[in-house]
Amino acid sequence: MSSSNLSLSSDQVEEMQRHVEDCYPEEGCGILGGFADRVAWVIPITNILHSSTRFQMDPREQIDAFFKIEDAGGKLIGIYHSHPNGPEFPSESDVRESAFPEAVHIIWHHLDEEWNYQAYRIDPVVGFVAVGISLHRP
Ligand SMILES: [Zn+2]
Repeated sequence: MSSSNLSLSSDQVEEMQRHVEDCYPEEGCGILGGFADRVAWVIPITNILHSSTRFQMDPREQIDAFFKIEDAGGKLIGIYHSHPNGPEFPSESDVRESAFPEAVHIIWHHLDEEWNYQAYRIDPVVGFVAVGISLHRP
């Protein structure tokens, strides 16, 4: 069963935002682990490209994150990254190189000095579709 939604706490949203702000003007990226559609871990990962238009996760940190999530009985349920200069939707390379079709992809974009996010399902064949995020208290 694939769900079209992801549930995050306001603390987790702030954690992601702090990370992408710290990475600015480079793209920041990270992994969301959890149970069903409820996020339990926000795990920032180094963008080894150190680019403002592309990201690639540090492979070693990525594997450590997968182990941490699996050891706790959870699953990879989301990926987040930032677009320091927009746009709010996935780029061509985000779609082409999307490796986790089961994950919800959150894109943080920086426009008019403000950070906002939007979530998507990305399929290299079909493209992307926006999905909803629900927020719960910590
Ligand atoms: Zn992107």
